[in-house]
Amino acid sequence: MTATTAGDPGDVRGDLAADAIVIGAGVIGASVALELARSGRSVLVVDRGPAPGAGSTSSSSAIVRFSYSTLDGVLTAWEAAPAWEHWEDFLGVRDPDGMCRFIRTGMLLFDTPEFTFDRITDLWDEVGIEYELLDAAGIAAWFPHFDVGRYFPPKPVDDPAFAGDPHGTVNAIHEATGGFVDDPMLAARNLACAARHHGARFRFHAEVVGVEIEHGRVAGVRLAGGEVLRAPIVVNVAGPHSSHLNALAGVDAEMTIHPRPLRQEVFAAPAPPGMSLEDGAPVVSDLDIGQYFRPQVGGTVLVGGTEPECDALEWVDDPDHFDEHTTVEKFETTMYRLARRIPEFGVPHRPMGLAALYDVADDWVPIYDASSLPGWYMACGTSGNQFKNAPIAGRFMRAIIDAVESGHDHDLFPVQFVGERTGRTIDLGAFSRRRAPSATSGTVMG
Ligand SMILES: Cc1cc2nc3c(=O)[nH]c(=O)nc-3n(C[C@H](O)[C@H](O)[C@H](O)COP(=O)(O)OP(=O)(O)OC[C@H]3O[C@@H](n4cnc5c(N)ncnc54)[C@H](O)[C@@H]3O)c2cc1C
Repeated sequence: MTATTAGDPGDVRGDLAADAIVIGAGVIGASVALELARSGRSVLVVDRGPAPGAGSTSSSSAIVRFSYSTLDGVLTAWEAAPAWEHWEDFLGVRDPDGMCRFIRTGMLLFDTPEFTFDRITDLWDEVGIEYELLDAAGIAAWFPHFDVGRYFPPKPVDDPAFAGDPHGTVNAIHEATGGFVDDPMLAARNLACAARHHGARFRFHAEVVGVEIEHGRVAGVRLAGGEVLRAPIVVNVAGPHSSHLNALAGVDAEMTIHPRPLRQEVFAAPAPPGMSLEDGAPVVSDLDIGQYFRPQVGGTVLVGGTEPECDALEWVDDPDHFDEHTTVEKFETTMYRLARRIPEFGVPHRPMGLAALYDVADDWVPIYDASSLPGWYMACGTSGNQFKNAPIAGRFMRAIIDAVESGHDHDLFPVQFVGERTGRTIDLGAFSRRRAPSATSGTVMG
């Protein structure tokens, strides 16, 4: 075996076999690698990019919140949160390159006529998540810079109704323990560091272009250039490229839920009054104007969309070819919508932002599952809402892989995962590739 340090420390060339290959070193892939390595398997991670987290993870808004529409979704995020709070304990190592930080800001979620709080509070009551309900006066007292008007439904800025008067006022739920991770790419790097600590090896600039199948079972992957890496277990964690990889493996036909890349734009802007970290600003999910926004280190806010009906979804056929530049139209829409909620916001003249891809499942719920090809697993369809769940997604995949490799039929009898925080059971069948689409999830909120 010959080790080199090309690209990223720990790169390995020449060792062509492992117990498990993980395709993709994003935050989810690195977590899967960590948990499989912790299980005693030899793990080889291959990524076509230059470093951990350099794919869609690097663009993540990295918000940690618990406002999912299903019990399993809420439980998953709630179970993952302590890992971010106690990151070094969770990893079991301190990364010499630095550690990402969880910044607890709390979260504020506005209601809409369609999105009433009982959908969330019923689930939070069941899980034991504490919250406070605020009416308009309560919001105004706590966040005096917010306009508490109800503007729903969100509109394009060139709609004459966009500048219309509010009709009524919004209400909010405040949850005190949400927040965000300050550096999503570093989070993936930290997970990769911990995985290496348990013996996982990483190869960058290594693109999987074929799947090796022998006797009806996965036997490894083929890289661009022809090299074959052998393993009886391969996990597809290729983010927006996951559907392409599933097609290469020939496993997509029997799936009822499919992942698809969706283009997104996210902008940064100087923090409006009351929205800096120093002000104690929360993460805000504002479905009333179709946006989320949060403070970030350095005195800016990050602003993204929540897929309001009036905004066309930009599905992408080929994740290698999409417009990576932000658009004036999206910039203006994003900024003017934020200015509705915070009237003192000085809309910047120049865009500062990014365009990136979500890997969206049909119902915006991730897929953590095995497949019709023995040995081929997938952690994909993360739908713009799974960064926060990365620490537990690795554990889900380990539980599924351990069970299926021991002969368990996860399709018929879904693996049940018991969370350490609550002692509650999470039905991993909720993340099946063959599930009926969730009736309650349909946007990035999950
Ligand atoms: C703009 C944006 C904002 C978001 N905001 C939030 C948020 O606030 N909160 C939240 O919880 N989630 C959020 N998400 C979602 C979250 O960031 C993603 O779910 C998560 O980062 C996905 O990680 P991943 O490891 O699955 O994929 P990726 O990070 O995309 O990693 C996939 C890797 O696979 C590699 N790869 C692809 N094809 C191949 C191949 N053929 N061979 C080898 N390697 C390959 C790529 O190079 C890449 O490194 C957001 C996502 C985006 C894009």
